[in-house]
Amino acid sequence: MDLCWLTVKEAREALAGGELDARELTQAILDRIQRVDPQVKAYINVFPRVALEMAERANGGPLAGVPLAIKDVICVKGLETTCASKILRGFKPPYDATVIERLGEAGYVLLGKVNMDEFAMGSSTENSGFFTTHNPWDLERVPGGSSGGSAAAVAAGECLASLGSDTGGSIRQPASFCGVVGLKPTYGRVSRFGLVAFASSLDQIGPITRTVEDAALILEVISGHDPRDSTSAPYPPLKARELLSREVKGMVLGLPKEYFGEGLDPQVRESVMEAAKVLEGLGCRVEEVSLPHSPYAVATYYLVATAEASSNLARYDGVKYGYRAPDYKDLFDMYVKTRSQGFGTEVKRRIMLGTYALSAGYYDAYYLKAQKVRTLIKRDFEEVFETCDAIVTPTSPTPAFRMGERLADPLTMYLSDIYTISVNLAGIPAVSVPCGFTREGLPVGLQIMGKAFDEATILSLGHAYQGVTDWHKRRPSL
Ligand code: GLN
Repeated sequence: MDLCWLTVKEAREALAGGELDARELTQAILDRIQRVDPQVKAYINVFPRVALEMAERANGGPLAGVPLAIKDVICVKGLETTCASKILRGFKPPYDATVIERLGEAGYVLLGKVNMDEFAMGSSTENSGFFTTHNPWDLERVPGGSSGGSAAAVAAGECLASLGSDTGGSIRQPASFCGVVGLKPTYGRVSRFGLVAFASSLDQIGPITRTVEDAALILEVISGHDPRDSTSAPYPPLKARELLSREVKGMVLGLPKEYFGEGLDPQVRESVMEAAKVLEGLGCRVEEVSLPHSPYAVATYYLVATAEASSNLARYDGVKYGYRAPDYKDLFDMYVKTRSQGFGTEVKRRIMLGTYALSAGYYDAYYLKAQKVRTLIKRDFEEVFETCDAIVTPTSPTPAFRMGERLADPLTMYLSDIYTISVNLAGIPAVSVPCGFTREGLPVGLQIMGKAFDEATILSLGHAYQGVTDWHKRRPSL
């Protein structure tokens, strides 16, 4: 039994049955991190001592002894949380995020904090303020982003599963680039308390795993109402068993024509159409549908998200957190120098775009208009869901691209999220599931979108799909 490749489900059964020792499992993964992370560079911080102590203490809970990696945008009490930004270097949160508290009660083992695009702004992890993570399937390529470290760590056997965050695709797109499963739950399903805010009306935490079943097991632990997040939905935690047990036979799946047009890589199209056939073979009915406002999603997102980010990032002023510029004349100069030195290029670009969109005279033309289009996008989905149980699309128009390829042109980078962004604007859940490989050996992801608060339908579909395919069982040679 190669411990690093166990699923969460297998590990928890072996641990509960006494066939596997939690310390042995954690040690095996720490050893693998030491061996492969110098190439993959998924981790910002590894905490071997903390991990082994947690493994020692683990007992009883549903994730007792299961080693996980956490995106460095989620606060863990007393341990450095950087958002991959120089401005937060050295920041140790005085409290745990709600998801961390819940994982803790479930007995998980924290291996470390993983890399990301700075403040989750990006699609390749190249915007990290520290270093770039490499795709385990091809080290010359990006792992996707912004949760690139979370996806690469799962794909490389450097954890059993991880948490990421998704504002416009940041869980699903890296999951598809790395050949693993990524779930963005419904907005409000998982508490954002302790998730460092990027765009508060879009952000959502979710699991990255090797199987859909594992995603359900983790969602069971982290979901449910939290009075400390005013946008948290008033529902109890979900049950993994119920999340996976919907009958998929007879379900109607919509294929939106706007997601299969220009810009879609032919090999990605082929894999996704093949996957749709597999779902038909499971008894689903597939039909073409239309989401007519899709062409406006990227523009709408980059107004809403930057506007919210410009406000959320005002708090990094050199006083309350992390970094402060060493030399300055007065208070104003200190703010300017701290923010100029602490933030990277993309974060500065977003703050400027967002401030502009919100400024007097432009608010109506940009921000207000974007809010109206957001409503139209949401209505498109509501209409399709009147006749469909779920919507099936590619997760990303292309497989993982080469490092550096899209850095010079932010617009090309922004287009990486063309198929994932609408889901966040509409607040609905979606999962990316491995559905094939290109001739170059790069993974392709299938995206399944569902109605708000209907994770059960998309997870049952993904679970059924994985029951008859084995794309998720392939491993990169590292
Ligand atoms: N890539 C998108 C962006 O750069 C989405 C990021 C995310 O989901 N956090 O904003």
